[in-house]
Amino acid sequence: MKVLVVDDSDVLRKITVYNLRKLGMEVEEAIDGIDGLEKMRTWHPDVVILDIMMPRMDGFTVLKEMKKDESIKDIPVIVLTAKGGQNDEQIALSLGAKQVMTKPFSPTQLIEEVKNVVGK
Ligand SMILES: [Mg+2]
Repeated sequence: MKVLVVDDSDVLRKITVYNLRKLGMEVEEAIDGIDGLEKMRTWHPDVVILDIMMPRMDGFTVLKEMKKDESIKDIPVIVLTAKGGQNDEQIALSLGAKQVMTKPFSPTQLIEEVKNVVGK
């Protein structure tokens, strides 16, 4: 399974990537929304883990851009939001996110969500 992790936080990316690779998943990283969209178009991941607050292009814009592109619009997305962002969750779901997780979360929670989203 190919998972793309789109987050501007180096620490969060490293932890997430480490845990997913440990399970034998193929993982790529993107540092912001623009980088993320580019890697979706070239690498075609099975799942995208998407942060909301990022420089250059935020996660909401990424979700909107995905919808406009046939080649990536059906990739399931798990959105990561910061604490206290109740509205973020609603907006992300309305923009097509499959699942929303509030930071901080445990590696186990994340892995469960990835499995749920891809139906395993
Ligand atoms: Mg961020």
